[in-house]
Amino acid sequence: MPAAADRDALGRPVTTLPGVGERQAQRLAQLGVHTVQDLLLHLPLRYEDRSRVRRLGELRPGEQALITGTVEITEVARGRRARLLCRITDGTGALTLVFFHFHANQQRRLARGIRIRCFGEVREGPSGLQMIHPEVDVGGSDAEGGDGLLPVYPATQGLNQTGLRRLVDRAVALLQAVQPEDLLPDDLRAAEQLPTFTEAVLTLHRPPDDSSVARLEGPEEPARRRLIIEELLAHHLTLRRQRHHLRDRAAAPVLRGNGRLVSAFRESLSFALTGAQDRVDRETAADMARRAPMLRLIQGDVGSGKTVIAALAALRSVESGLQTAIMAPTELLGEQHYRNFRDWLAPLGVTVTWLSGRLPPAERRQVLRLLADGDIDIVVGTHALFQENVVFSRLGLVVVDEQHRFGVHQRLALREKGQTEQAQPHQLIMTATPIPRTLAMTAYADLDVSVIDELPPGRTPVKTVAVPDTRRDEVVEAVANACADDRQAYWVCTLIEESDTLQAQAAAETAERLREALPHLRIDLVHGRLKAADKDAVMCAFAAGERDLLVATTVIEVGVDVPNASLMVIENPERLGLAQLHQLRGRVGRGTTASSCVLLYRAPLTDAARARLSVLRESGDGFEIARRDLAIRGPGELLGTRQTGAWQLRVADLVRDSELIPTVQQAADRLLQHHPHVADRLIDRWVGEAAQYGRV
Ligand code: ADP
Ligand code: MG
Repeated sequence: MPAAADRDALGRPVTTLPGVGERQAQRLAQLGVHTVQDLLLHLPLRYEDRSRVRRLGELRPGEQALITGTVEITEVARGRRARLLCRITDGTGALTLVFFHFHANQQRRLARGIRIRCFGEVREGPSGLQMIHPEVDVGGSDAEGGDGLLPVYPATQGLNQTGLRRLVDRAVALLQAVQPEDLLPDDLRAAEQLPTFTEAVLTLHRPPDDSSVARLEGPEEPARRRLIIEELLAHHLTLRRQRHHLRDRAAAPVLRGNGRLVSAFRESLSFALTGAQDRVDRETAADMARRAPMLRLIQGDVGSGKTVIAALAALRSVESGLQTAIMAPTELLGEQHYRNFRDWLAPLGVTVTWLSGRLPPAERRQVLRLLADGDIDIVVGTHALFQENVVFSRLGLVVVDEQHRFGVHQRLALREKGQTEQAQPHQLIMTATPIPRTLAMTAYADLDVSVIDELPPGRTPVKTVAVPDTRRDEVVEAVANACADDRQAYWVCTLIEESDTLQAQAAAETAERLREALPHLRIDLVHGRLKAADKDAVMCAFAAGERDLLVATTVIEVGVDVPNASLMVIENPERLGLAQLHQLRGRVGRGTTASSCVLLYRAPLTDAARARLSVLRESGDGFEIARRDLAIRGPGELLGTRQTGAWQLRVADLVRDSELIPTVQQAADRLLQHHPHVADRLIDRWVGEAAQYGRV
C-alpha cells in the first residue's frame, strides 16, 4: 500500500476496501460495521489457540486442537445417516474425522497416505477420539509450526469467520498504510503504559503467537485497556460536547426574580429547609440567574425533600414572568405534585394547572389555550406535556421528576421543547435513584449534579424485617395495631407481569381478603386500571387520613407522600429490584413516628434473593443500596433500559471499568482545552452517527 494513503481513509465506508461490495456492506451493517474504522473496532470475542500442532496421543475430549496426520483409511459408513469417516494417525495416536455432508470427490481427496492438517473440537466417539466437520487442509503445510491465535468474531448470516478475517485483514493493511497519528495524549499513554491505537488494534486482531489466550481476552491486556480508555473518553467527550453545543446554541432567560414569592413561600412552610436543601437551592438559583441554560441533576434519596427545591425554582421563574413545566413519570405522581404546588402556591397568587393525556378534550383545549396565552404560571403533567402539541407562551424552566423513569432520549428530547432560536429553558432534573459517583460522571457528563445528602430532621430510620408468607397472620395483626394507633399503612402487591389488568386483579383479591380479616378498618384500593379521577379520590382520602389501609400495586412506587403512614407491607419483594424496593419503602418514615417495612416473602428464597433482601434490611441509604444493586444487576437496569441503548459500548463496561473514569475525565478536560479537534476525531471514531442521538 502506498505511503500516501490519506488519514481520512479509515473513516470511509467499508465499500472503499478492495473487494467489498454492496452485499457485503449490508451484512457488515448488521454487525454495526459501517466504516473501515468500525471494522477495526469489531474485535474478536475470543481466540482459538492454533499456536502449535498437537500430538494425537495427548488430546482430551472437549478441547479444540490443531493437528496433523496421515490418512489411514477413508470410507463411507452406511447407517441411519450416511457419513464419511477418515481415520488419521501421527505415530502417537489416532483420530477419526467425521463428515455428515460430503461430496464423492472428498473421499478421493482424502486418500490413504495423504498428509492433512485439521482444526476442530475433539470428542469422544464410538471408536476413540473424533472430530466432527473439522476444518481440513489437504496436503497443507507439513510444518510443525502452528497458525497462531485465531480470532473469532461476532459473525452474522452470510458472513462467516473466514470472510470476516479476510475483511479485517484488509482493514488492518489499510491501518498500517495510513499510520494514523495517535489520538490519546502522550502523557496519558505513558502514565498508563498503553500501546498506540495501531499497536492495540493489531495485537487484538492479529495476536503474536506467544500471547496467552486468557490474558488476551481479559481487560488487563494493555491493548484492550488502551481501547477501553479511548472508548470511555470518546463517550464522555460526546456528552460534554452536547452540553456545550446546547449551551452555545441559545441563551436562556435570566431568571433572577425579585425574591418576593420565594420568601413568601419559605415563610409559609411549616419547616425550615435542611442545610443540604439550602445549598442545592442556592446552586439552582445561581444557575438560573445566568444566561446559559441550567442543566442540573438533583440526586436526593427518597424523602430528602426534592419537591420544595422544584417549587422554589418554579417561583423564581414566575417572579421573572416566565412559565414552568413540571413533568412527572406517572399520573399519580403528577396529580400529587399538582395538589402540592396548588396548595403551596395558589395562596401566593400563582396559577397552577394540571395537564394529563386523560383530560377530557374540552378541558384540555382550555388548558392549552391558557398556556399559549401565558395565563398559566406552572403546569404539571406527565410526558403528555412534551409529546403533544403543547405551546408555551414563554417557558423559562422545565422540571423533570424521577428522571430514572425516563430514558436518555426522552430527557434529551425534552430539551428541545420550549426552545426557540433565541432562548431555551433552564432544566432541573430530579432523581431518587442515586447512582455511584463514577457512574454519574459518565452517564450524566452532560449535567451538573447536586446532591441532597441530608434528610429532614426528626426522621427515624424505617425498621425493615423479612417475614415468610407462612406468618401472614402476624403481619395482618401488625397492620391492625398500627391503625389502632391512628397510623396508616400500605399493603403493596407485586406481580412480575407488566399487565395492569393482572396486577389490578391481584391487588383487588388481596384487598378483599384484608377486608374480611380486618372488618373494622377503612380499606381502599389503588391500581393502574382505576380512572384518574377515582385514583385521585382514593389518594386524597388516604392523604387526608380518611382511610386506614391502602392496598396498592407498585403504582405508588414513586414520590407518593403521606407522612402519617408508618407501616408498609410488600408482598413478594423477591420479585423487585433493590432500587425499586427502596423507593417503595420510602413511602413510609416520612413523618416523625418510627416506621416499619415488612418484606412478606414467599419461602423458600433463593440465595440471591436472600442476599438482596438482606441488603435492604441492613441499609437505609439509597446510595449504598444503589451501589449494591449496581453490582448485582449492572448499569442498564439502574439507568433505564433505553439509556443503555444509547450506550452501546464496544469494549468498555461502565461497571467493570469504573475506576478508569477519573482518569478519563481529566484527559477529557485537557483535550477539550488544548486539542478540541482531537476530541472531535475520537468522537467520530467511537460514537460516529450515534453522536446525533442528542438531537432527536
Ligand atoms: P422526595 O425527595 O422523595 O421527593 P418530598 O419532596 O416528597 O421528597 O418530601 C418528603 C416530605 O418531607 C414531604 O412531606 C415534605 O413536605 C417534607 N419536607 C421537605 N423538606 C423538609 C424539611 N426541610 N423539613 C421537614 N420536612 C420536609
Ligand atoms: Mg419526589
